[in-house]
Amino acid sequence: MKKKITVMTILVFLVFNLTACDWFDSGLRVSNIDSVTMSYTGGSLQLDEAHWRAFADVYNGAEWSKEMAEQIGPVQNGLEADVLTLDGKSYLLRLYDDPENGLLLYSPERGIAKLDRQDSAVAALLSDAVLMGADYKSIAPTLQLSGDLGEQQLKCKNYALSYRDLSGNIAKKDIIDDFQDARAQYGITEPGAKVGLKLDPTLQIDTVEVTATFAGQKIALSVDEKYQIELLPDMAIIDYVVNIKSKETDLGIYTATAELTYAFTVDQNYDPEVEILSDEQTLGGFFLIRGRYFDEATKLLVEQSIIDIEITPYRVGNEILAVIPLNYYAAVGNHEIALYALEGDQKTELKRVKLKVYDRDFDMQNLTISPSKEREKRSEAAYAQYHERFMPVRETSHPEQLWEGAFIMPIEGRQTTDYGAKRKVNDALTRYRHNGIDLAAPRGTDIKASNSGKIVFSEELTLTGNTIIIDHGLGFFTYYLHLHERYVAVGDDVEKGQIVGTVGSTGFSTGPHLHFTASYHLKNINPYLLLEWDGEWQDWPTDTTQ
Ligand SMILES: [Zn+2]
Repeated sequence: MKKKITVMTILVFLVFNLTACDWFDSGLRVSNIDSVTMSYTGGSLQLDEAHWRAFADVYNGAEWSKEMAEQIGPVQNGLEADVLTLDGKSYLLRLYDDPENGLLLYSPERGIAKLDRQDSAVAALLSDAVLMGADYKSIAPTLQLSGDLGEQQLKCKNYALSYRDLSGNIAKKDIIDDFQDARAQYGITEPGAKVGLKLDPTLQIDTVEVTATFAGQKIALSVDEKYQIELLPDMAIIDYVVNIKSKETDLGIYTATAELTYAFTVDQNYDPEVEILSDEQTLGGFFLIRGRYFDEATKLLVEQSIIDIEITPYRVGNEILAVIPLNYYAAVGNHEIALYALEGDQKTELKRVKLKVYDRDFDMQNLTISPSKEREKRSEAAYAQYHERFMPVRETSHPEQLWEGAFIMPIEGRQTTDYGAKRKVNDALTRYRHNGIDLAAPRGTDIKASNSGKIVFSEELTLTGNTIIIDHGLGFFTYYLHLHERYVAVGDDVEKGQIVGTVGSTGFSTGPHLHFTASYHLKNINPYLLLEWDGEWQDWPTDTTQ
């Protein structure tokens, strides 16, 4: 206990003008006091009149000793009080807790007086109201915000202090009243803005925790070693709370640990923005539309006449991603599409974009097939089965991106039929275009999943034989037809490169090959273009080969 007291030495030091001896002779009169300023490490405080009485009583009741002052010598530590009188004079006192002699009041003119803590005037002087009042003014530090939000001083919202009082005991104090409304408001800021947190250097930071409240959820933000945080990118008004715990800090008159709470609010209600990553594509390619700052109530509406589907945007985090796929039937030429933000009934035009779609010189292929096989495999029933079983699978896709990076070619094989080829079977032009690529390879050749995804189809159909469809999410699918063996079942998650089956010649096929198709929902795109893409939304392959 004695050791603790050592740390907290208090001394009141009274310096006075020699011409003011009369004033001291007659004692310290409350009616003659103009102000009492207490100073310590980190700050000072004007005491109110209620505490002047305590000073006057302690001073007037003290038994002064010059001998003791000579033994101990001048003291720099302690609590300093500057008393100003109404006649313009200044007197300095020091209150000092000496490890040997206990609580002392020091004046270079009068010497030192030993104070009795039990004395009511002394107790009043040392009351929490005096010290804590002084203390929170000086050490409830403001929090300096810096960085992308600009500079701002934040007042403390909640301040809990643990300190060793003058008797060496740990005391606790919550000081919140003055800081209830301490909160900084910011206007619209950019997402990903960084904010630096800087606390008053008199408190040594132990821990800093920052939480953001968004959509009713509390989210802990990471704080780096420079006490920087990155704001949430969400389009909302977001409340941030900073909780700081200090290490035990020497405040001059005692040590303290503090828990401080600061709060600020950032408004990130941006207007929606859209961009198109390329404005020229060839049939078989695809346009990517990317929207930012769409809040949960706002949808992206794409009005276009390039292809006969409704464009269904996907929400990925705070981004909106939409694809306009171009199959071999898409409208070639110049187009203007309109992009709207749709909120309830309210439709706001965001952008009109001119797009150009180039034609492609598709192959014509002549196929000779035995009439009996054609009858069997390309019957009305076979097409009916294909439409019933195969087509609906592609209408809905996983709402998250399941693929990782670039798509890969499922086998090494010689291409025998290109994407989009027109076909004559036994000299008759078919109604259908070749919706993928044919890759000839020996029966039993392993087939790799072109990318990660979920198996949404695995069965044998009359037309396409053993067939597998992988949903890669966000509307992208790949298809593997005429397989000899299937190794996966509906619901399986597959990794990119995983062997899903082997090459065969099942269904309407003239020899072992893999028919590989890629689509965006119902529209079959050029697999080669999908394979050119690195799979990132930032980059988009522009193909204008004609
Ligand atoms: Zn084929």
